[in-house]
Amino acid sequence: MKGGKLIVFSAPSGSGKTTIVQYLLAREALNLDFSISATSRDPRGDEAHGKDYYFITLKDFKQHIKNDEFLEWEEVYRDNFYGTLKTEVERIWAKGKNVIFDIDVVGGLRIKKKYPDRTLAVFVKPPSVDELKRRLKKRKTESEERINMRIAKASVELATAPQFDFIIENNDLSTALAEADELVSNFIANGHESKKE
Ligand code: 5GP
Repeated sequence: MKGGKLIVFSAPSGSGKTTIVQYLLAREALNLDFSISATSRDPRGDEAHGKDYYFITLKDFKQHIKNDEFLEWEEVYRDNFYGTLKTEVERIWAKGKNVIFDIDVVGGLRIKKKYPDRTLAVFVKPPSVDELKRRLKKRKTESEERINMRIAKASVELATAPQFDFIIENNDLSTALAEADELVSNFIANGHESKKE
């Protein structure tokens, strides 16, 4: 099969994975392009359609499910669907680039299972659940109820960490960025061979 590598970053929201993914995208040598997910949730802050997400209606999302157009999809929060369209990966591979995903743990593990040899699955661990709460509150983009929903989900997500290829503990951002850079560079150069040695 043709195509590049798949780099998955999964973590509870607020753990800093988006910052890490943005940093890696700016590293030209890694030749990465961001997999833009489709979601039924509303845009937050200055998020843009076709850049951060494809913002679509719940009805359209369900139609894509019916048509089997998703590589993976998940109802991450009630009535908030998120998914990777198959066309998104094809779009990026057609450009000769590797795909980087910022998706939830279930979706991340699904991609790894579908493409075990070409996927690097990294879990980003926040320092603690309290710190996670503090970061989500600081973001000021969501209601108290939504924040509590994300915190409740975080404990379940943390339990899946051992199923990933690597865990990055995001206690100190610059250390986490350097670690992520090294992991991804190695995987792109050597695949999983670099881990087996
Ligand atoms: P947020 O609403 O904060 O942008 O995202 C909520 C969660 O959904 C995050 O953990 C995010 O990584 C995840 N997510 C985003 N896109 C996808 C996707 O395509 N598939 C899955 N399974 N999860 C996604």
